[in-house]
Amino acid sequence: TVSDGENADPRCTRQNSVSSVSQSLREWDIPYDELDRGEVIGKGRFCIVYSGNWHGHVAIKELRMDYVNDEKTLEAFKAEVSTFRKTRHENLVLFMGACMKPPRLAIVTSLCKGRTLYTHIHVQKDKFNMSKTIMIAQQISQGMGYLHARGIVHKDLKTKNIFLESGKVVITDFGLFNVTRLRRGNWLSIPPGWLCYLAPEVMRSLRVVQKQDDGLPFTPYSDIYCFGTVWYELLCGEWPHKGLPPEAIIWQVGRGMKPSLANLQASRDVKDILMACWSYQPYERPEFSNIQITLNKLPKKRLHRSPSHPIHLSRSAES
Ligand code: ATP
Repeated sequence: TVSDGENADPRCTRQNSVSSVSQSLREWDIPYDELDRGEVIGKGRFCIVYSGNWHGHVAIKELRMDYVNDEKTLEAFKAEVSTFRKTRHENLVLFMGACMKPPRLAIVTSLCKGRTLYTHIHVQKDKFNMSKTIMIAQQISQGMGYLHARGIVHKDLKTKNIFLESGKVVITDFGLFNVTRLRRGNWLSIPPGWLCYLAPEVMRSLRVVQKQDDGLPFTPYSDIYCFGTVWYELLCGEWPHKGLPPEAIIWQVGRGMKPSLANLQASRDVKDILMACWSYQPYERPEFSNIQITLNKLPKKRLHRSPSHPIHLSRSAES
């Protein structure tokens, strides 16, 4: 993913870039013994996250060792670390370094003190007013726009990976998806809530038996689709496709059907963002810079049904 060299000979360019990546990886390598590991904050299926101390409070995301058992995963991990080091934005978690010597593979980041949007929306059932909803969405699109401008695809944008700290959005977990998710045995595993974030082209690439090299086709466009789902959760307080079994979600989204907007009482402009982000054709989805412009223009008060802003429910399930 990195090509810093300007040499005309492609072999030299490759050599330069490989050595510059390993050089820079060394700079970010944290010896595991230097970490003062504290309590477990949470367990994902593939990682355990600890709070800890390394020149201040940090989060230590350790890959579970029953999982990291091959050279390929190690290489994927290093590639993701080399992506991480390129990020500096106030809406992205601060990457501090990584432990890259097996059997201990871990990413060290700043510790997020607030709660995730998932906890706010789905656990605490918090309701954000329109002005706060827009402010959160603007910050997410700022952070995501930055990632895309740096050529980084998040691959797993979801409310569980977005923290809210005293009104500030902090996005975590970018780029790690390929290391942690795709293979658990040979079977595709579907975490709860995950399907709602999958763009049609990604959904259509799911296979029951995942082959060794099957990567899912994540792109900046599929990140935009995820943003649409986050926008829906912020507005409705629930996931799209509520109550549908996984098979039905896979079938509907794969065929180009959009989730119902029947539960969404909002203006045309607000719904248009959803419809655009959930476009079946990836290239029809807006870029984050455009989403920001649209969000800036939205009235900060929630608009309810009115004759001047008719709601087009019929558009929700088709097209
Ligand atoms: P999944 O396995 O589907 O990814 P998850 O996203 O909850 O589930 P992890 O990303 O491994 O799993 O995170 C585990 C827990 O650690 C979550 O509760 C998450 O909010 C928390 N966490 C992750 N990164 C940080 C951080 N930088 N600061 C504070 N808490 C964090």
